[in-house]
Amino acid sequence: MFDTVLIANRGEIALRILRACQGLGLRTVAVYSEADREARYVQLADQAVCIGPAAPGQSYLNQAALLFAAEVSGAQAIHPGYGFLSENAAFAERVAQAGLTFIGPSAACIRTMGDKVAAKRAMREAGVPCVPGPDTSMPEDPETILAIAHDIGYPVIVKAAGGGGGRGMRVVEQQSQLLDAINLTREEARRAFGNPELYIEKFLGEPRHVEIQVLCDAHGNALWLGARDCSLQRRHQKVMEEAPAPGIAPALLAQVGERCAAACRQIGYVGVGTFEFLFEHDAFYFIEMNTRLQVEHPVTEMTTGIDIVQQQIRMARGERLSLSQADIGVHGHALECRINAEDPASFMPTPGVVSRWEVPGGYGVRVDSHVSHGYRVPPYYDSMVAKVITHGATREEALARMRLALGEMRVEGISTNIALHLDILQDPGFREGGVDIHHLERWLHTRTSA
Ligand code: ADP
Repeated sequence: MFDTVLIANRGEIALRILRACQGLGLRTVAVYSEADREARYVQLADQAVCIGPAAPGQSYLNQAALLFAAEVSGAQAIHPGYGFLSENAAFAERVAQAGLTFIGPSAACIRTMGDKVAAKRAMREAGVPCVPGPDTSMPEDPETILAIAHDIGYPVIVKAAGGGGGRGMRVVEQQSQLLDAINLTREEARRAFGNPELYIEKFLGEPRHVEIQVLCDAHGNALWLGARDCSLQRRHQKVMEEAPAPGIAPALLAQVGERCAAACRQIGYVGVGTFEFLFEHDAFYFIEMNTRLQVEHPVTEMTTGIDIVQQQIRMARGERLSLSQADIGVHGHALECRINAEDPASFMPTPGVVSRWEVPGGYGVRVDSHVSHGYRVPPYYDSMVAKVITHGATREEALARMRLALGEMRVEGISTNIALHLDILQDPGFREGGVDIHHLERWLHTRTSA
């Protein structure tokens, strides 16, 4: 049983994990690159170890440096957060081989879910509804490929089995484009992911992005904690998220949630995870599973009252789930805005020194951020500087509270997307709820051309 946790991450999530550990009475070890020396999570940790220069490859992605930091600090567990090494099966394996606990599922689970073809096969076998298309990799023979696409029906999408970050996929409208698209995507996949394996599935025209949070112990118990809607995206990057997902029949959601929990039991999944679905015409289609904590976990916390990070750590300690599915209730509505240091017109990151930092507060308002007055936003990492989360008895109340909260926020020295969030909150389409994943880009287009 571990009592010291090394947090292999930075920024707001390092602080979030640190607080969860402190709440459980665990000792914390922070790691930092030379660019993060002054960071708040570094100051608040029981111990802090510098793991290298600013470049992520030399610090937060440097497996040897992280393992060495664990050894010198006496940490017996490593929490990977999100991004960086959080979904790296080889790292999870090395952590285990070093006799430490990786706070996440087994390397085998991470590996299966990291291969989208294997993941789809495992999920279909477990009864989770998937996007129509074979759960095998793309065959070589052109005739067979054309026959498969014909059976699925155009448009189809060609995707890299090892893809991620919205890259390595191509939509094909008609048969004459299919073989060329496959060649191009295969080349791209080989270059970007070192894995040329592809697969093909139906392309859905106007889906929503709806995801289901799961929580599992090491004793065969698994729960699902409701759904989040993350359809507001720009270039496949989530901008705003909410829970619950508006307008989904509770019986349908429960059916899919149960399937997700059952799939976790079947593959021996431990910890927290997220099943991502496309949702169209009242049906769910699995696209991938994230085997880690997610940026948007707070909206689920605010509506279920469950501290997901503490639960994740408890599960890694081998504790039994103290809740049953009947204990999980969804109360009110929560919304999260990702505040980025970025140029409002170009969306390019705007690193620099924060000369004024005043965040909102009050009932139903939560701010997860590592930033404070005088903080220098480094240019080397993700540009997110805060997550503003509001909770209300109804969706309308959560939206109104968000408008007030963002209106209160004062940030100077760097530019941010706060004004963009405020504009989105006024958009009648979004206010109605249930927009599809292309809505934000369409809206941005009309906004700039107006
Ligand atoms: P990644 O791991 O790169 O995020 P995903 O498989 O999660 O890849 O897909 C990323 C995004 O691509 C989805 O959120 C959706 O916008 C789009 N997409 C993926 N598969 C389909 C599909 N079958 N139909 C329509 N859009 C899709």
